[in-house]
Amino acid sequence: MANTDYDVLIVGGGLGGMYAIHKLRGMGMKVRAFEAGYDVGGTWFWNRYPGCRCDVESLEYSYSFDPKLEQDWSWEERYGTQAQILEYAKHVADRFDLRKDITFNTRVKAAVFDDKANTWTLTTDQGESFTAPYCIMAAGNLSTPRVPDFPGLKNFKGKTYHTGLWPHEGVDFSGLRVAVIGTGSSGVQMIPHIARQAKTLTVFQRTANFILPAENRPMDRAVEAKHKSEYRDRRVAAFDTPFGIAGYPPPTKSALEATPEEREAAYEKKWQEGGSISFLYSYTDLLLNKEANDTAVEFVHRKIKSIVKDPETAELLCPKDHPIGTKRLVLDTDYYPVFNMPHVKLVNARKAPIQELTEHGLRTTEAEYEFDAIVFATGFDAMTGALAEIDVRTTAGNVLKEKWAGGPLTYLGRMVSGFPNMFIITGPGSPGVKSQMILAIEQHMDFIAGCLQHMQSHQQRRVEADAAAERDWVRHVNEVADSTLYPLANSWYVGANIPGKPRVFMPYVGGVHNYKKRCDQVAANNYEGFKLSA
Ligand SMILES: Cc1cc2nc3c(=O)[nH]c(=O)nc-3n(C[C@H](O)[C@H](O)[C@H](O)COP(=O)(O)OP(=O)(O)OC[C@H]3O[C@@H](n4cnc5c(N)ncnc54)[C@H](O)[C@@H]3O)c2cc1C
Repeated sequence: MANTDYDVLIVGGGLGGMYAIHKLRGMGMKVRAFEAGYDVGGTWFWNRYPGCRCDVESLEYSYSFDPKLEQDWSWEERYGTQAQILEYAKHVADRFDLRKDITFNTRVKAAVFDDKANTWTLTTDQGESFTAPYCIMAAGNLSTPRVPDFPGLKNFKGKTYHTGLWPHEGVDFSGLRVAVIGTGSSGVQMIPHIARQAKTLTVFQRTANFILPAENRPMDRAVEAKHKSEYRDRRVAAFDTPFGIAGYPPPTKSALEATPEEREAAYEKKWQEGGSISFLYSYTDLLLNKEANDTAVEFVHRKIKSIVKDPETAELLCPKDHPIGTKRLVLDTDYYPVFNMPHVKLVNARKAPIQELTEHGLRTTEAEYEFDAIVFATGFDAMTGALAEIDVRTTAGNVLKEKWAGGPLTYLGRMVSGFPNMFIITGPGSPGVKSQMILAIEQHMDFIAGCLQHMQSHQQRRVEADAAAERDWVRHVNEVADSTLYPLANSWYVGANIPGKPRVFMPYVGGVHNYKKRCDQVAANNYEGFKLSA
């Protein structure tokens, strides 16, 4: 193998890239990560919009690799705020001295594998190139913000913002006429905060989402102490669950086996508890059987109508085009009551689509509006966007963009056949985005580290996903998705928010428990499905 600058090059300095550095350094490897932002944290560095917070409970959403870290760190609230998670990421970077191996303010533009020398060369927007035998893509699944290509975008004289590129100095909407476009997770978290400041707030909704109460509250120190005393067992138990989160009793019966009164009481209890997993755990078949799912849908519709006073607005807020849970469930604090405020208006952007931005606002097919500021809560080119922005190719003539033109193909979400020595963390074909993502990051990186260790001890230097194994895995991912209600939704899981993106179900929804078992088997069978060679 040729001499290289590093042993491993890493794209991304979010929680994924940070753990990759720590893990590989612990194996004696020389690593370098590249991060487009000026500091660590990824998602939590970029998404500084008001109200941004995690919807997995903070005691769960944290690294497990260092028992002392998880004992020392203290979370302030049931769900971590963006600010505290960023603080946590910075603390981890300081504690493990990670920044010395990260080049900040640097975007990787190209990654080329030399098929003869078995090395990757990464070229950055600073015009520099670096080589290593291995490359790890920790570029994130929700890291490529997208603003719809509205005509007239440049004509608008007011300010525009995207939730995923929020100004670090914050934004004061006091006295302004504000539009928010999009009612996914970010929009829902942000809208109550903007409503408190703005003179008027107009929310453009294309798709109503299912929004459940977060029931956020200050951290109960007794709960925290108990959780910390059980941390080790809980971390292990999380791998036996579909979403990688322990502590929620799994459901035991079908929604259709319960009487209407029992169902009402069960859903009400979960509604009061707050949280999405707990709600989906009401019955065994909410994500499998439409009739069962409809019972939960009816419950949530009734809740919305009991909160929102204007019947027309309430009706519009009731999601009708997808089963509950088939799009990412959103958790809220004060979202529905916002629409009872006299200065807040909901516009049906499905019935009257936005046609263009104008000098003073925007125009739909039905009306013209004037605004001082427009906020795009329009999401990301999810799961494949970050890799699509890098020119990934090999000297043997493989080009990732071409290979994925019809949708992403991977083996276990970890590797792409034809692209040796390149690993992906939490990529398409893995359950990453359908789980507590820090757990996914750690499991994926531990698998990669195990593979590299195995190769070292067998004097192997080249690893590639076998094309047949990849084909079988992709088929399995699709079969599993098709056995659920997930494909019924036009979600970012199928790329539906990006015009022209091939409609392919990208995450593995067979559950963290099944996926982890499969990865462990693959490792135990000498990395079955991967071609390893000297
Ligand atoms: C608003 C929001 C809320 C979320 N809430 C939750 C939640 O409640 N629970 C949960 O489990 N997950 C949540 N997520 C998912 C979250 O992305 C993950 O939990 C986790 O932070 C992912 O870490 P990562 O390092 O894999 O990716 P990211 O945090 O996305 O980091 C990737 C980094 O790579 C950098 N990068 C990308 N391309 C390049 C390039 N070419 N060159 C250089 N740098 C590059 C980016 O700048 C970014 O900093 C949320 C995501 C968002 C956007």
